[in-house]
Amino acid sequence: MNQYLEEAMAMKDELIANRRHIHRRPELGFDLPETIEFVATQLESYGYNPVKIGGGLTCTVGSGSPVIMLRADMDALPQQEDTGLPFSSEKDGVCHSCGHDAHTTMLLGAAKLLKTHECELKGTVKFMFQPAEELLAGSRRMIEEGILENPHVDAAMGFHVNVGPLGPFDYHAGTMNHAVGRMMASADEINIKVKGRSAHGASAYLGINAVAIASNIVTALQQMPIMETKYNDDVIMCIGKIEGGARANIIPDEATITMSFRTFTSEAREYMRKRVPELASGIASAWRAEAETEFVVGVAPVYNNEEMAAEMHEYALDVMDKVQIVPAVAGSEDFANVCEYVPTFWANIGFGDPSDGYEYSMHNPKMRIDENGLPYGVAAHCHLATEWLRNHSE
Ligand SMILES: [Zn+2]
Ligand SMILES: [Zn+2]
Repeated sequence: MNQYLEEAMAMKDELIANRRHIHRRPELGFDLPETIEFVATQLESYGYNPVKIGGGLTCTVGSGSPVIMLRADMDALPQQEDTGLPFSSEKDGVCHSCGHDAHTTMLLGAAKLLKTHECELKGTVKFMFQPAEELLAGSRRMIEEGILENPHVDAAMGFHVNVGPLGPFDYHAGTMNHAVGRMMASADEINIKVKGRSAHGASAYLGINAVAIASNIVTALQQMPIMETKYNDDVIMCIGKIEGGARANIIPDEATITMSFRTFTSEAREYMRKRVPELASGIASAWRAEAETEFVVGVAPVYNNEEMAAEMHEYALDVMDKVQIVPAVAGSEDFANVCEYVPTFWANIGFGDPSDGYEYSMHNPKMRIDENGLPYGVAAHCHLATEWLRNHSE
C-alpha cells in the first residue's frame, strides 16, 4: 500500500473527529471565526505558522521551487440540515451540505502528514484554506491579497466531495474522478435595466415601452450564442426573471432582466461578457431607450490543464482504488479563479454511491457522506503534490 495512504488510514479516527467538529459548527461566507480558529490551532499543533490572508489562511511546508498549492474551502450553506445524524449542525439554518467540512479536514490531514515528510519534498507545498466559496468570492479575495505570490505558485490542485446520484460513474469511497481540459462551467449573473418613458396606454407614441424593449433584448440574447459563438463553445443561457410595468394601460418606463450564462472556456466567457451589454444597449438605443448592464457576480470556468491532468491521473492510480475520467459538468466552482493564473488540477473524491444508500447529493439538506473517503482524499493531496514536485524540480 502507498505510504501516504497507509498513514492516512491510520489517522482515520482523527479525521472523522475533525470533520464532525467542523460539521457541528458550520459558518457562512467570509464570516468563519470558529472554523478559522480551529484550522489555525490544528496547523499550529502540527508545527506550522498559519497566516491570515483574504479572509482565509495559508502556510507552507518544504522549501524552494517549484511550488504547488493545495486548496480547501471552509464555508457552509444557508440551509437547515435534515440528516438526523447525531453530530448534525448545531446552528439553525446553516449546514455543511456541500461537503466543505470534508475538504477542510482532508487538507488539514494532508498538512499534518506532509509536515512529517518535509525533508522528502522537492519543493514547496502551499496551503490555501479559503472562505466564501458558495458566494463565488473567496478565491478572488485571496488572489487579490497575494495568495499566488511569496512564494510564487507554479501549479494548484483542489478536490471536491462527490456523493449520491450524480451520473453513471462510481462514487464509492476510494474513487476519484476528473475531466481533462474542460471540467466545470463559468457562471456570470447579470442584471439589465432598461429605461424608457412612461405614458398613458392610449397615447403609446408619447412613451417608450421598457417592457416591450426588454422582450426584444431577451429574444436577441437567446439567439446570440447560436449566431456568434464557435460550434464547440457551449454557452448556456438562463433568462431567469423579467420585471417591469404596473397596469394594462400604462406604458412602463422601466424593466429589469435578471439572467445568467455559463461557458466552458475563458475565451467564450470573455466574448459573452462583452457582447451581452453591447446587444442590450444596442437594441435599447434602436428603440430610443437605454439599457444598463450590471455584472452581479461571476466566476471563471474550471479548466484541468491537459498535461497536468494526465500526470496527476497516473499518480492518483497509486492511492485510489479507481480513477475515472468524466465529462465536464455545467456547475461552477470558485477554485476557477485560480485556474486563470496557474495550471490546475481539479478532481472529485468519492464519498458514497447511491448503491450504498448515499442517495442525496451536494446542496441537499439530507446529504450524508461516507467518511471512509477522508483518508483517500488526504493521501491523494499528499502523494500527488509530492510526486508533482519531484517531477518538476530542477
Ligand atoms: Zn456548494
Ligand atoms: Zn462545494
